[in-house]
Amino acid sequence: MSTSLYIHIPFCKSKCFYCSFASYAKKDHLIASYVEALKREVASIRGTSIDTVYIGGGTPTYLSSDQAREILSVVQYHHIVKKNAEVTIEANPATFDLKKAEALREAGINRVSLGVQSLNEKYLKFLGRPHSRKEAFLAFDILRQANFSNISVDLIYSLPGQTKQEIKRTSRRSWVYRVRMFRFILWRSPRDRSFMKRG
Ligand code: SF4
Repeated sequence: MSTSLYIHIPFCKSKCFYCSFASYAKKDHLIASYVEALKREVASIRGTSIDTVYIGGGTPTYLSSDQAREILSVVQYHHIVKKNAEVTIEANPATFDLKKAEALREAGINRVSLGVQSLNEKYLKFLGRPHSRKEAFLAFDILRQANFSNISVDLIYSLPGQTKQEIKRTSRRSWVYRVRMFRFILWRSPRDRSFMKRG
């Protein structure tokens, strides 16, 4: 039986219009104490042999590289992370630079799940994403430069007015960066219809 460890980071730069995940913007004052509590919890259940680690959110790359590194060190110190274990972090464009990406790679992260959602400025605005198309491309570049070879990309499809050609174009543009996996997420009107009425 394989064992996976999921670590949730419930902080984001801003709250996307459609988001119903456990994530909070403008709560930066809670990040340090959350990280400390997380480290205590990870240490309290010691000695587990772990096959995969997944740091999700929220936006885990909103943490500083030191905070992310500390969390991983506590995991590695108190548990047995198997050799060749997949260690993933969810990332959003515009929340990391090359220095942070390199620090994460060095800390043992070997896979990045990048929340791009769209490479079309119109849809990024519609979704309330905190990054531009340009920043999404920059994020790809940074990850490649930091030697991440295992990158997956989340894309939302079936957005109002979105055509098949637009979806194909977006995945083709991402493919150039040798993305290993796409996760296509069917658009569902959020919270629910109230957002669409506003839009
Ligand atoms: S970045 Fe992700 S978790 Fe954060 S608000 Fe947007 S959809 Fe939600």
